[in-house]
Amino acid sequence: MNALRNRPLVLMYHAVGERAAEEDPFCLFVPQDRLYEQLASLLARGWTPLTLDTYLHGALPPRSLLVTFDDGYRAVLDQGLPVLRELKVPATVFVLGGLLGGRSRWMPEMPDEPLLDAEGVRELAGAGLDVECHGWEHGTLVNASPEELARNTTQAARVLTDLTGRRPRAFAYPFGDHDARARRAVAQAGFEIAFSTYHAEGRYATPRVAVSSTDTRTTFRLKVLPSYPVVRRAAGHVPKLRPAVRSLIGRASRN
Ligand SMILES: [Zn+2]
Repeated sequence: MNALRNRPLVLMYHAVGERAAEEDPFCLFVPQDRLYEQLASLLARGWTPLTLDTYLHGALPPRSLLVTFDDGYRAVLDQGLPVLRELKVPATVFVLGGLLGGRSRWMPEMPDEPLLDAEGVRELAGAGLDVECHGWEHGTLVNASPEELARNTTQAARVLTDLTGRRPRAFAYPFGDHDARARRAVAQAGFEIAFSTYHAEGRYATPRVAVSSTDTRTTFRLKVLPSYPVVRRAAGHVPKLRPAVRSLIGRASRN
């Protein structure tokens, strides 16, 4: 249990802002005031937000937290950065080396959202955020060819290094998906760590807690409990546990 408690909480956001439900079928946009409230509530309860460097190499206080944003939406710069600045919360942003200035066209169900261009990425890095690697064009790395793996890891890292002057150290798998060859490719490309979403597999598939626009105060509080990943996994495998998870949500709301 101690090991579980001391492991930093890694939150996975995507974008920041207001979108109608039909414009955001995957609930990726967390409104700006909600992001503020979520991060402020963690700070008020004694959580310490980390830079990637401290996460990787520093001394970690008991309740430490890494805030991450996937895909590199323009909205993270426009709407997210002001919140992070005001609360002095560092963050790690995973961008796509092959889609700078492009749009989120890998999700046909969602209207294309603008992604950061080179200037936007430099602005985020200049503001002190860690700009890290989310692959090339958001294709899955599962069953990828050696050429695809190289483009998503080595080539994407080179683009980001040229942009920011700093080599990316962390990788986040598109869709959170990975297999043994993908994990090996990321390690061999020189990344120090890779993040998945739910499926954990050592240092090169470190799980994160996904935050979406559907999260309420109650579900957010539940998600940051140290036991949440275990409970979530168990509830997924054992349908009988779902009522227990609901009762835990109830308990969290009364705290
Ligand atoms: Zn993504």
